[in-house]
Amino acid sequence: MAKEKIQAIRGMCDMLPAEAAYWEMFESSAKALAKEYGYMQIRTPILEQTRLFKRGIGEVTDIVEKEMYSFVDSLNGDELTLRPENTASVVRACIEHNLLYDAPRRLWYTGPMFRHERPQRGRYRQFHQFGMEALGFKGPDVDVEQLLLLRRLWKKLGIGDVKLELNCLGQIEDRKQHREELIKYFENHRNLLDEEAQRRLYLNPLRILDTKNPDMQELVEKAPKLIDYLSDSSRNFLEQLEEKLQAQSVDYVINPRLVRGLDYYNLTVYEWTTDKLGAQSTICGGGRYDPLIEMLGGRATPACGFAMGIERVIELMKECGVKLPYKECDVYVIWDETSHNQAVAFAERLRDLGISTIVHAGSAKMANQMKRADASGANYAAIICGNEVSQHIVSIKPLRESLADYGDQVSQPEELAVGYLQAQLSEIRAK
Ligand code: ATP
Ligand code: MG
Repeated sequence: MAKEKIQAIRGMCDMLPAEAAYWEMFESSAKALAKEYGYMQIRTPILEQTRLFKRGIGEVTDIVEKEMYSFVDSLNGDELTLRPENTASVVRACIEHNLLYDAPRRLWYTGPMFRHERPQRGRYRQFHQFGMEALGFKGPDVDVEQLLLLRRLWKKLGIGDVKLELNCLGQIEDRKQHREELIKYFENHRNLLDEEAQRRLYLNPLRILDTKNPDMQELVEKAPKLIDYLSDSSRNFLEQLEEKLQAQSVDYVINPRLVRGLDYYNLTVYEWTTDKLGAQSTICGGGRYDPLIEMLGGRATPACGFAMGIERVIELMKECGVKLPYKECDVYVIWDETSHNQAVAFAERLRDLGISTIVHAGSAKMANQMKRADASGANYAAIICGNEVSQHIVSIKPLRESLADYGDQVSQPEELAVGYLQAQLSEIRAK
């Protein structure tokens, strides 16, 4: 009887080998960048107490109201949640381990996040973020540092066509008067509010500005703008930020409607957006969250950070024409019944030099071995067989058309073949 096939959970994707090159390029670029700017890695558990996110993200937000994977641990009754984002966890860890006691911290993280959303292109239930947090800095210098870093990352990844949208949320006090005006405005247009907006009208009217409902866009467009209600010191902060961005020639636009989905932001908020990904146009969001650390029980400490959706960034790399072909190895070694041990020893020598090498495994006809070599994506096949075996001769055959410039098949003593491959591959890599 055929057994039922078990499938992955809806909205939770497998990363398959064909995609690996993109993920690896992203991860190595992001890690290198973190080093260049002096950020240290932090890893926190994927499961946290539910109340961490309720308090840290805010009760009246999309995430907490309808997107969290929360459950009761049936073994001990604990209320737990799969992390929907990582800032609250990072802050929790910093407080718990007293990391902010004597010095500010620059931190980065990466890993899976979980949100129960409607799955579609660029929107998944398990997705991955790379993010950075600078804790203990008042800004706006660090805010600018992070934006420069992001600009550098897009360049490294081959991404063009991203726009930086910036806004200033001011402080809680600035938002009070705006809140009243906003409520009045929405009350006057109550018939245009959708159900969610009706519910949020008095709980968290600012969130209404964040709506994705196309029917409400015009209404929201004309709503009172927070930027007009900023205090002098908030306005001054924004001016300094803009001055510093301009000094480094960072392009941006002010988007007065940008409020971000999380409650803990103040002053700087921003998103990097693109026209190339359809509805899921934001690849990265961030800003300042000075109130959060105190809200989570720590000593008041200013901080700012960002998170990007890696799936969306990789999708955008592809849209921008970044091509990373499938490749299992640099060299695929082919042998016959007399030469297997020699082939293995040859491959070990190549690996000593850091050259990625596969030795054909299992027995197979020469033609099949060649086919496998081709399919592996290797640059070269190294063929050790026939009457050349006893003389330790290796034939090197370029496998890719793009290698035409690097000459035809050559046969050389093993010693020379190793050096030849090393030289050819480093030239190819340098290209
Ligand atoms: P959106 O408005 O698209 O729902 P968000 O404001 O909820 O995004 P953040 O919480 O700011 O997103 O998360 C930062 C980034 O993580 C987003 O800009 C996006 O690139 C990515 N992201 C968020 N939710 C998802 C998801 N469900 N699937 C894939 N990527 C996501
Ligand atoms: Mg969202």
